[in-house]
Amino acid sequence: MSTSGIGLLCAFRATARQTFDISIFAPSEGISMCAAPTWHLNFGTMFGLLKQGRRRRLRAQLFPKEWLATIQRSALFFRRLSANDQAELLGHIQVFLAEKRFEGCGGLAITDEIRVTIAAQACLLLLHRKTDYFPALLTILVYPSAYMVEEKRQIEDHVWEEGTMTRLGETGRRMGSLVLSWDAVKSGAADPSDGKNVVLHEFAHQLDYENFAADGVPGLTTREQQLSWSEVMKTEFASLRAADETGIPTLLDTYGATNPAEFFAVSTEAFFERPCALRSRHPKLYAELQRYFRQDPVEYSAEHKHCR
Ligand SMILES: [Zn+2]
Repeated sequence: MSTSGIGLLCAFRATARQTFDISIFAPSEGISMCAAPTWHLNFGTMFGLLKQGRRRRLRAQLFPKEWLATIQRSALFFRRLSANDQAELLGHIQVFLAEKRFEGCGGLAITDEIRVTIAAQACLLLLHRKTDYFPALLTILVYPSAYMVEEKRQIEDHVWEEGTMTRLGETGRRMGSLVLSWDAVKSGAADPSDGKNVVLHEFAHQLDYENFAADGVPGLTTREQQLSWSEVMKTEFASLRAADETGIPTLLDTYGATNPAEFFAVSTEAFFERPCALRSRHPKLYAELQRYFRQDPVEYSAEHKHCR
C-alpha cells in the first residue's frame, strides 16, 4: 500500500522531529460558519436524528458471545472496568464495527479477532463522553507487523533526508484512514500498563482532529477548559522537550516532544496505561486529561507501583 501524497501527520514512534510552534496549544478561534439555508438545516437535523437512532439500536443489540470472549482474552483492561463501563464499551464497539471499514494489507486477512481487538481499545477513549465515533475516520488498514514506508524528512533548514522507515501505525487529518500493525495492536492490548499502545495513540490523533486541526487540542467544551488546557499543555510540552534535549529520564515517551499533536497522543497512552505514575509525577496534566476523557483510569489501572 502506498501512503505517499496523503498528508501524513503521525508515524508511530518514528524518529523524525517536526518543526513546531508552541503557541499551537492555544485554543483555536471560533470557526465562522455561514448561515445555512433552512432546507440544509432540516436535512442535517433529520440525518442527525436518523444516525442517532441507528446508533441507539446498534448499542442495544445483543453483543455476540464470540466477540466478548475475544475481548476478555485479548484486551486485558476490560476485566478491570466496572460493569457499567463494560456495558457502555460493548455498545460503542457495536457502533464502531458497524461504521468503520477494515482492510488487510501485506497479505493479512481481516478476522473478527482483529476488528474486535482494535475496536475495544479505540472505544475506551469514548466512555462517558458525547461522541460522534471518530467522524473523520472511514477505513482502518491493518498490516501483519511493522511495515516499511519511503519517507523524506527535513533534518534542518534546506536539508532533507530520504530513506525507508519502519512504522507501527499512522494516521492523518485528511487521510480518512488509520494504519496499524496487528503485532503492535496485540502487544498493546496484552500489556495494559507498559505505557505503549499504538491503538490509543493513533485514535487520540483522531480525537485531536475533531476540532478541524492537528494541534494537540481535542474538542473541549468550554472556553475556561480551553484556556486551562493551553496553559498546562504548553508547560508540560516545554518540560518534555527540555528533558529530551538534556537526556533526563521521563515518564512520557520523548516522541511526544516532536510536536503538540504527538504530545497529546503520547500523553493519552500514559493516561490510560500509566495513570498512577502520571498522576503522581504530572498531576496537572493528569487532571486536564481526566477532565477531557471524563475518566479516572487509576480506578481500573493494572499498575501496582505509584498507586495510592
Ligand atoms: Zn503520533
